[in-house]
Amino acid sequence: MAQIKKVYLDESEMPRQWYNLAPDLPTPLQPPLGPDGKPITPDMLAPVFPMNLIEQEVSTDRWIDIPEGILEMLTIWRPSPLVRAFALEAALKTPARIYYKNESLSPAGSHKPNTAVAQAWYNKEFGIKRITTETGAGQWGSALAFACALLGLECKVFMVRISFDQKPFRKLLMNTWGANCVASPSNETEAGRNILAKDPKTPGSLGIAISEAVEAAVTDPTGQTRYSLGSVLNHVLTHQTIIGLEAKKQLEKIGEKKPDVVIACAGGGSNFAGISFPFVYDKIHGAEIDIIPVEPTSCPTLTRGPFLYDHGDTAKMTPLLPMHTLGHSFIPEPIHAGGLRYHGIGPLISGAINDKLIRPVSLDQLECFEAGTLFAKTEGIIPAPETNHAIAVTIREARKAKEEGKQKVILFNFSGHGLMDLTGYDKFNTGNLVKHEMKDEELFKYLKELEGYPRPVGA
Ligand SMILES: *Cc1c(COP(=O)(O)O)cnc(C)c1O
Repeated sequence: MAQIKKVYLDESEMPRQWYNLAPDLPTPLQPPLGPDGKPITPDMLAPVFPMNLIEQEVSTDRWIDIPEGILEMLTIWRPSPLVRAFALEAALKTPARIYYKNESLSPAGSHKPNTAVAQAWYNKEFGIKRITTETGAGQWGSALAFACALLGLECKVFMVRISFDQKPFRKLLMNTWGANCVASPSNETEAGRNILAKDPKTPGSLGIAISEAVEAAVTDPTGQTRYSLGSVLNHVLTHQTIIGLEAKKQLEKIGEKKPDVVIACAGGGSNFAGISFPFVYDKIHGAEIDIIPVEPTSCPTLTRGPFLYDHGDTAKMTPLLPMHTLGHSFIPEPIHAGGLRYHGIGPLISGAINDKLIRPVSLDQLECFEAGTLFAKTEGIIPAPETNHAIAVTIREARKAKEEGKQKVILFNFSGHGLMDLTGYDKFNTGNLVKHEMKDEELFKYLKELEGYPRPVGA
């Protein structure tokens, strides 16, 4: 019998609580601010989110019980296997042991349903009938459409125009799960109409789509619509920690004491938080672990964006969040990793950067597609373009381990499969994918708009 390839958990071994990093961050999180520069109170968010999720957003409890109804939905695809990438290790001739959490096995093909089912459940519990949201590559929209279908909720999705055109299949997934999906900017909201008037050919951005989805929720006269965000916010990041909590049990099961390196790609930060926060907890308590979020050089929020207070969306409807940002007006290059094109990042992740608990890296898309292709040819699964960023840094770390002759344990999050992103692979395969890096002038231009904004302490 060969060495063990996959580590499974029984359903009975599934974590019963999520881990919330907020109370453990050495430097306490600074609060979101309203337009007047004063901290936002929970009741101010009430038109946007149901109160039970707002309570979770501001919670300082380290552990949050997962309701039974959510656990039941999660068992459709969880626990997810922890997989040893033997063939990738062999191709790299590395002494490192590479493990990945396979989050591509969910019905929507990514980690996003982990929070989608939770958010839909809390909304239903609160008496909400309809949920609005934005989506980039379509992963979040399809995850929420799936969750709403399970619970019998209406779902309205504003999908970033460039992805709507490049990735029609995710729209069809959403439709099949019963959701209504439109391209953003749309003519259905004031935010959308304003942007279309200025730039009718805009590729759109997550920031614009968020503005539209929030507007559509708060202007529903029945009061039974709320908005849902697929990443960035504390409660979303917390829901994803089931990934890292499972991984910890699985590593233990297979006899690994701890990972030396933990890697995930970062857009708004949810899959990164999901796999890494339980290990950030260990690091705070003395464990030596290199924890790496990976982003594209064309959207370098963590590596080049300053730590500021900024809006989560282009129309400035959301509160100001303390986060690394490229500026809310940033419209990213249409690179193929649609899910990594957000101007900001979850405040918990910014906190972990400021406290030097994690070490961000940015990579060009060419190196990422090369890495993803090697993974596909060795381990078999074609990764999402976002996931390729995590794989590329895993490969760098595995090569470094070889040079140093070290038997490192590398854990990365396989955040999703790429079966709906094959146009990106086609471009790469035919030599039509180009390198792209954000220019300084561009960054200065977007950040200039934040002059006069309140500054978080330490900025
Ligand atoms: C959405 C998405 C991401 C990026 O979002 P995060 O909130 O940063 O996790 C990464 N990988 C896949 C497959 C995605 O769908």
